Amino acid sequence: MSGAGTPQKPLPVADPVTRPFWESVKRGAMELQRCNACGEFIFYPRGICPHCLSDDLSWQPARGTGAVHAFTIVHRHPNPAFGGDIPYVVALIELDEGVRMLSNLIGVAADPAAVTVGMPVEVVYEAVTDEVTLPKWRPRAG
Ligand SMILES: [Zn+2]
Repeated sequence: MSGAGTPQKPLPVADPVTRPFWESVKRGAMELQRCNACGEFIFYPRGICPHCLSDDLSWQPARGTGAVHAFTIVHRHPNPAFGGDIPYVVALIELDEGVRMLSNLIGVAADPAAVTVGMPVEVVYEAVTDEVTLPKWRPRAG
């Protein structure tokens, strides 16, 4: 543990609805909710389907691939904990399952301006603590 007053990055806190997602990410095998009634994938995790309001949901493996839907390059951050990461890319990723996930695009620090909408990406699992692993994304060929 760091001392009091040391800036920390905020981390997700799993709850009963989101815990299966965070556990799958920690295993390095991301799963997404899917509605058994209408077949749509769902992200973020929730108790009912946003498409048809069914509560008959299950967890299914995600392919771990997608494309950049939108992004921004962060050059300043008010929390000093992020200072070492600047510049970094925050991206809205459209997964091949059709859902969108806000995350970081990594592996582009040398030239973040080369990031483009539509860039194919793949998931990377980054263990940030013993308990928490975050899904991040990096460019992929093709
Ligand atoms: Zn549904």
